[in-house]
Amino acid sequence: MQLKLLTTKKEAGDATSFIFEPDAPLEWKAGEYMFYKLPHENTDNRGDERWFTISSAPFEKHIMLTTRFAGDKASSFKKRLFAMKPGEEVEAKGSEGDFIIDEPDREYVFIAGGIGVTPYRSIILDLDNKGAKIKGKMLYGNKDENIVFKEELEEVAKRHPEFEIRYFIGDKHVDAEAIRSAAPDLKSPIFYVSGPEPMVEAFEKTFLDLEIPQENTRRDYFPGYVWP
Ligand SMILES: Cc1cc2nc3c(=O)[nH]c(=O)nc-3n(C[C@H](O)[C@H](O)[C@H](O)COP(=O)(O)OP(=O)(O)OC[C@H]3O[C@@H](n4cnc5c(N)ncnc54)[C@H](O)[C@@H]3O)c2cc1C
Repeated sequence: MQLKLLTTKKEAGDATSFIFEPDAPLEWKAGEYMFYKLPHENTDNRGDERWFTISSAPFEKHIMLTTRFAGDKASSFKKRLFAMKPGEEVEAKGSEGDFIIDEPDREYVFIAGGIGVTPYRSIILDLDNKGAKIKGKMLYGNKDENIVFKEELEEVAKRHPEFEIRYFIGDKHVDAEAIRSAAPDLKSPIFYVSGPEPMVEAFEKTFLDLEIPQENTRRDYFPGYVWP
């Protein structure tokens, strides 16, 4: 399908959201992603295709992707994406993915590493919009105080007394202790982790060490970003 760029929104730090209108109605589940193809001149060795989570919630109707821009060091794909003007189109396929919520009434621990926050914006706004009681904690690690979607997520958290967002900035990382403190009963919540690939791999080990049942864990990997 073709997605037409409606507008862009500057987010915290080096992140920007791109808001698109699909050329046909699209239904998706909060937490899913799409596959994008953006042909451009002087394509570097990372190519002209990428995956991006849909950071908008289904009730918002538009498709939003949110990503970082590394300036001169950015890939040719990102340079082309960030040069897009409203009205221009990009080809996309999907949606797909299993980083979704099956049981809205469960207790959740959402672990986010930096831009790995994108699926949680969709998931948390969707749960709120559906009138679910959001229960659990979000453990949000970021390299600095430029915390993407901070205000929007806190606005939702205010309406859900059983949901709390804890931040881990700079050298302070989400670790086994932080997980234990967020969920003293490690057997009951569902643990989600989303962020740079090496971070998610590190959490797989932490979950094993904490003896969290594997069926209670979900992962979303973002290749192409360094961590820590
Ligand atoms: C299912 C899925 C969902 C995803 N969802 C998202 C999402 O919602 N948002 C998102 O941002 N990404 C998401 N990703 C990752 C995305 O597809 C890209 O891999 C990622 O954004 C990196 O983009 P890029 O390769 O264009 O690199 P860039 O973002 O341009 O660069 C990435 C890093 O590499 C460094 N770098 C680049 N070139 C050089 C160089 N020559 N020398 C030194 N350092 C360099 C940059 O400084 C930067 O730190 C998702 C991936 C998957 C698989």
